[in-house]
Amino acid sequence: MLIDVLTLFPEMFSGVLGTSIIGRAREKGILDINLINIRDFAKNKHKQVDDYPYGGGPGMVMSPQPLFDAFYHLLEASPTARVIYFSPQGKTLRQEMAEKYANMSHLILLCGHYEGVDQRVIDRFVDEELSIGDYVLTGGELPSMVFIDCISRLIPGVLGSSLSADDESFSNGLLEYPHYTRPQVYQGLKVPEVLLSGNHKEIERWRKKESLRNTLKKRPDLLEKANLDLEEGRLIDEIKNNK
Ligand code: SAM
Repeated sequence: MLIDVLTLFPEMFSGVLGTSIIGRAREKGILDINLINIRDFAKNKHKQVDDYPYGGGPGMVMSPQPLFDAFYHLLEASPTARVIYFSPQGKTLRQEMAEKYANMSHLILLCGHYEGVDQRVIDRFVDEELSIGDYVLTGGELPSMVFIDCISRLIPGVLGSSLSADDESFSNGLLEYPHYTRPQVYQGLKVPEVLLSGNHKEIERWRKKESLRNTLKKRPDLLEKANLDLEEGRLIDEIKNNK
């Protein structure tokens, strides 16, 4: 997958995209991330990329010229690339959407700053606006890093085991079960007996029940939308009846 990121602050990305799983995916060539400084496309003498808003008011707006030229440059080589603008006004990113993006071969991510970008850029080039939540950040750089992290771990070969992404919170509409590792007893706190039993069927049942318990406790809204099977319905009853 190729991801072009249009930003005024490419230096913000190096730690996040150069380390750990994403860093290794880039080294292996599974993920190609191209950081493009929007300022490089500014044609005015001082390389200014923003200007005052028409109609007055606070803040600055990212000017159309550098962005139009950057998009002409990128889309000339790859006219079918999907263009995403990070904005608090966009559709909120969810796991099932991430699965769709992970299958795309070329994405162009636009990071806004200040009051955002001139609307004509959005109208002309952007396929969709994405938000990472109902709050306002100073720029689209963190949202685009969140997005890249979230979708890359779904690309085959990025995670160590191809199964690791299948079993996580949201992958089946529920939150995941709790995890434990060695030692069996730590400061008097014990690992649940069933996990030490070696009985895979019982372990699977326990995990399903704890996943339902977690979801009921922390995100009951997810349970309302989940398609529970008969066994899961029975487990929910057990949880509610404290069994
Ligand atoms: N004036 C804009 C508004 O009220 O909708 C907010 C602009 S915000 C201060 C600057 C930039 O940060 C945006 O252009 C966008 O790229 C990014 N941004 C801020 N919050 C975001 C969020 N929740 N999700 C995605 N991007 C966000």
